[in-house]
Amino acid sequence: MTSEHPFPSPVRVRFAPSPTGTLHVGSARTALYNYLFARHLQGSFVLRIEDTDAARSTPEFERSILDDVAWLGLDWDEGPDRGGDFGPYRQSERSAAGLYLSYAGRLLDENKAYHCFCSQERLEKLKQECLARNEMPKYDHRCGAISSDEAESRLAAGEPATIRFRVSDGDIAVDDLIHGRTAFPAGVIGDFIIVRSDGAPSYNFAVVVDDIDMEITHVIRGEDHLTNTARQLLVYAALAKEPPAFAHHSLIMGPDGGKLSKRHGATSAGDFRQLGYLPAAIINYLALLSWSPPSQREQLSKAEMIKDFEIRRVARSPAIFDLQKLNWLNGLYIRDLDHEAFHRAIEPFLGAAREFASEGQLAVAEQAIQTSLVALAGAREQLAAFFDQRPLAEAKESVELVDAGSERVLELALLRIAALNSAAEFNAAGATEEIEAARLMLSELKRQCRQEKIPPKQMFRTLRIALTGRASGPELPFLLAGLAREAVRQRLEEAREFAAARLRGKV
Ligand code: GLU
Repeated sequence: MTSEHPFPSPVRVRFAPSPTGTLHVGSARTALYNYLFARHLQGSFVLRIEDTDAARSTPEFERSILDDVAWLGLDWDEGPDRGGDFGPYRQSERSAAGLYLSYAGRLLDENKAYHCFCSQERLEKLKQECLARNEMPKYDHRCGAISSDEAESRLAAGEPATIRFRVSDGDIAVDDLIHGRTAFPAGVIGDFIIVRSDGAPSYNFAVVVDDIDMEITHVIRGEDHLTNTARQLLVYAALAKEPPAFAHHSLIMGPDGGKLSKRHGATSAGDFRQLGYLPAAIINYLALLSWSPPSQREQLSKAEMIKDFEIRRVARSPAIFDLQKLNWLNGLYIRDLDHEAFHRAIEPFLGAAREFASEGQLAVAEQAIQTSLVALAGAREQLAAFFDQRPLAEAKESVELVDAGSERVLELALLRIAALNSAAEFNAAGATEEIEAARLMLSELKRQCRQEKIPPKQMFRTLRIALTGRASGPELPFLLAGLAREAVRQRLEEAREFAAARLRGKV
């Protein structure tokens, strides 16, 4: 066990999303840090659904969050879908079981909480008055002075009431494994609501009750919760419970320094999934956003991250989302896949190519694009070079073909293709041989062009434009091997006619 383990029992951490949206990469990083921490110390990783905001929570969002966390490979030990000894794992179910009210009842009995009968209008007026004085809005304590007898009779008469926590005087200090100590001076926190008038617990209360009941030892979450932690510590003290250790990690910022949001592009795990990022690359990238292993290596498997993860190596500085770096890592992971795994990963992104390409063509095309893909969804664009040629008349690049040198390249290439005609049809297994044959053909063609003083660059561009109607795309040997032999011949023929007609001014 390491020094960051102040408890004798195994650690228990939780990821506690509110199902009011999809999984943001910031939350995915919170889940990841909890997961790595738990696995590093052989503890438990709990998934708890914080759905007390009934108006905004939906079962669909819950499903999508669980799906995305599972897709990222962060398997949890206890949760709403798999049970455990500390369930239920949805706050709505815990609320229905009266778990929060029993704790609130204790605080009321001990005069550490009181019923508040203030109307919304009064609270709003109070807030505006504070703001006008340039002060943080804070409850003025009025109902704190009501006797319990009076409160009982007003409740019995049906008057709606919330339950407020009575904040004691004194500074509050949050000791944090990442931030060190943060002090909140006395008086900044006013008496806050722990149970709403409809009986639902507030976030700050439900979280403390759950973390106590679920025996959570470490709370790892974003630093936007730091002021909540100050309130939560007061509740722990009032309930005479030892608080867990806290670690608040920095938030993910966009390159402009603002909080990462939709205006920066893809922000949810689901967005990245759809674009064809691999989960291994995403968790690797998210881990490195403010953590690094002692080795300083950048490409790390989940097992390597588990082995090396320590909270004390998590930096406090804001994490800037760097898409270039994620792209770089994703490319590495894509190239590391073996044929079989790449084929499976790319399958959903093949689009129309699946319908008209043979197995053999696809095998070559897949090999061709695996080396240059940033994300799997880019496959469509890259495969277009193979399976969706642009007519030359529509491609602006085709003017380059209108040149005596280019016309000659096409002629020579056609002669070589004709000579290859007797070669057997290739198939998936023969793909590598076919690529080799194409390389050989190109090098012979290059030699011949040199002899005729045609620069190799012109030769390569001519062939690429003739074959695809595009000036960039997969490497030529792949392109030649991946297109059916007859298609190559036909396209070169068309290109030659196109060049010849324009050269002689017929079109
Ligand atoms: N439900 C909270 C959120 O989604 C979790 C906060 C916590 O981890 O305590 O932000």
